[in-house]
Amino acid sequence: MEKGFTSLEQLLQHPVFHHFGELCRIPHPSFQEKAISTAVCSWARRKGFETWQDDWNNVFIRKPASPGYEDRPAVMLQAHLDMVCQKAKGIEHDFAKNPIHLELAGDILSTGGRTTLGADDGIGVALAMALLEDDRLTHPELEALFTTAEEEDMSGAQNVDASDFHARYLVNIDNAVERHSVTGSCGGFGVKFHLPVTWEAVPGQALFYHLKVEGLQGGHSGEDIHRGRGNANIFLIRMLLGARKKTPLHLASLHGGTFRLAIPRDAEAVVMVPAARKNEFLAAVDQVAEALQAEYKAVAANLKITVEETAGPDTGLVTSQDVTDRFIEGMALSPDGISEMNAVIPTVVQSSDNLGEIRLEPEENRLVAIYEIRTSFRSKADYIWDKIHLLARLAGGTCEKFAAYPGWPDHPDSKLTFQVKQVYQELFGESMEATPIHSGLECGCLMEKRPELEAISLGPNCWDLHSPQERLSVRSTLRMYEFLKALLEKIQ
Ligand SMILES: [Zn+2]
Repeated sequence: MEKGFTSLEQLLQHPVFHHFGELCRIPHPSFQEKAISTAVCSWARRKGFETWQDDWNNVFIRKPASPGYEDRPAVMLQAHLDMVCQKAKGIEHDFAKNPIHLELAGDILSTGGRTTLGADDGIGVALAMALLEDDRLTHPELEALFTTAEEEDMSGAQNVDASDFHARYLVNIDNAVERHSVTGSCGGFGVKFHLPVTWEAVPGQALFYHLKVEGLQGGHSGEDIHRGRGNANIFLIRMLLGARKKTPLHLASLHGGTFRLAIPRDAEAVVMVPAARKNEFLAAVDQVAEALQAEYKAVAANLKITVEETAGPDTGLVTSQDVTDRFIEGMALSPDGISEMNAVIPTVVQSSDNLGEIRLEPEENRLVAIYEIRTSFRSKADYIWDKIHLLARLAGGTCEKFAAYPGWPDHPDSKLTFQVKQVYQELFGESMEATPIHSGLECGCLMEKRPELEAISLGPNCWDLHSPQERLSVRSTLRMYEFLKALLEKIQ
């Protein structure tokens, strides 16, 4: 193993970090990859590799097998060119113009907390470039695919023309835990549920209450869905359901969650209650609030549920009781959270959905719920969709799908996974874990086009991706480089 680097300048002379440093100089937010894509293309053409760039700015490179390796199955190294752009408070940085600032502290390469580093996934691109240009390396036919907009809609990988791929094995370098490779990912899509609203005028004897659920932990709609942290939208629906048993309800406003890919932390509603039912209403919502506090004590230390009297809406209108009932009933019956665990690897979620947003849109005269469904099998996702679709129909509403991306079902007998684990063990004397994950990867898009591919997702240790605290381990990157060299030499 190589010794540590004493300065950034010295680090940037290493082939992998040389390429990473060059990539950091070219701005590359999602959907603005033209310049970085063209730079990588020019580099590949200068090296004499067969290269193409398409309308989505994907870059494809091919290098023939080393002598004697012509019969081995071709390997594709794959990474994405775009990065998430986040900066710390008070930092001036224009991601469309400015290079990424680099700092080295011991083993850690970062921006010093200023902006995202873009090791996700610039380091994947850099590793592949260093491997391609290493003429001492023996390897089967090599292909490299660098995609775009992975962090947004995977439109690069979704639209790439895979008809001329030679690869049997796909090595995606977009993982952030060195000793835990990924062997499957979920696919999914968003669902929008609409319920048309009819309005009623506010009567004389009515009171309004502002119900607020705040301070849940939230998290990623896939990776954290099994943690039992609670969904603020569901909490609010439970309070409304409890109140509705005691009193008629009408909605003046409703807003929960901000994005379907995040588990909702906050939700709130203003409801109208007949003045004569005030006490029953308050007792009912308090009872549910107390139950929620008890149920989620262990995971929601900051949970705050408040019920305060407030003013009625300026419009003088609230949703009719019938519509309010149908929405509350629909949401109470709605699937949310884990649907099934993976039978082979019980720690991994196999299918789920996240009721990410609920809201009343008065201008559009509708109540809306937005979900994200995830599973490794499209058929299972369609089954969850069927349930939401049926609910919408029963409630008198409609439903539509959007932003679909394909899954990558885990293949327990994968020859590639076996070889990856074996080579890692031989090289480092340590085992590498390999399991599927409950979030999306571009492998799903590529395997939908070429189902015969076997895939794995790997990468060096990197922390706090998508935040200005993003940090990359230099040592782990060098280990990953050595590992990939050994894998390409031995793979059959
Ligand atoms: Zn990534």
